[in-house]
Amino acid sequence: MYGLLIIAALVAYWISIKQSAARKQKQFRLPADADEILNDRVSFYRRLSAEDQQVFRDRVRDFLAETTVRGVGTDIDDTDRLLVAAGAIIPIFSFPDWRYNNISEVLIYADAFTKDFRATGDNRNVAGMVGDGAMNRQMILSRKALQSAFRHNEGDNTVIHEFVHLLDKADGSVDGVPEYLLSQPAVIPWVRMMEDNILEIRGRNPNKIDPYAGLNEAEFFAVISEYFFERPDKLQEDAPELYAMLESMFRPDKTNGRK
Ligand SMILES: [Zn+2]
Repeated sequence: MYGLLIIAALVAYWISIKQSAARKQKQFRLPADADEILNDRVSFYRRLSAEDQQVFRDRVRDFLAETTVRGVGTDIDDTDRLLVAAGAIIPIFSFPDWRYNNISEVLIYADAFTKDFRATGDNRNVAGMVGDGAMNRQMILSRKALQSAFRHNEGDNTVIHEFVHLLDKADGSVDGVPEYLLSQPAVIPWVRMMEDNILEIRGRNPNKIDPYAGLNEAEFFAVISEYFFERPDKLQEDAPELYAMLESMFRPDKTNGRK
C-alpha cells in the first residue's frame, strides 16, 4: 500500500517537473528579429526551406530555454545567443528528438583563453572548449571566435566544432566515434577512414584541411564536421567518401531512403 503511494507521489512529482519544463520553454521567446539575424549570419539556415527554418527557430528557442548563455567579463547580446544556439542545433538538426544531456551553461569570454580558462597572461590560444571535471556541463567560447565563426564561409566554425565534441562526448568518451550516430558495423570502417585521413593530413594534406584535424580522432571528427556543415559543396568535391560517411551519420533520414 505504502509502495503504491510512494509510486503515485513520484509520478506526480515527475509530471510536475515535466510541466514546469514545458512551461519554461513556452514562455521563452526569441527576439523579434531572430529570423533576420539567422538569415544574415548563418549559411546553414539560409539553405533551409521556409518550413525547416521555422523548425530550426523552434529548436533554437528550446535550446536557449534550457541552456544559460552568459558573458564572463564581457557583455553579450541577442545575436551572440542566437549564434551559440545555431551552432548547437546545426549538427543535430536531422534528429528532431535530440536534446543535449551534457550541457547546462555556455560561458562567453571576450577573447581567446588559456587551457586552464585564464583570460589574461600568456598562452591564450584556446577559442572554445568543452568543460570536464569541475567544469562538466559547461562550454566556453571566445566571443571573438563566436562572432567570426559564421562570418567567413571557409569551413571553419568554432561553435559547431565544440558542439560536435559534445555530441561525441554523449556516449561517454570524446574519441571521434559518436556511438549514437553510428551503427555498430559502421564503427570500424569509420575508425579506419579517420586513421587514413589523419595520416594524409599530417602528410601531403592534398585537400588543405585545417592541420589541427591531424592531432587525433576527436579533433579530426570535429574539424571535418565543420567543413561538412559549412562547406558541404567543397567537402563533397574534395573527399566524396568522407562526405558520404558524414552524411550517413548526420542525415540518416536522407541517406536511408537512398538506393
Ligand atoms: Zn576541438
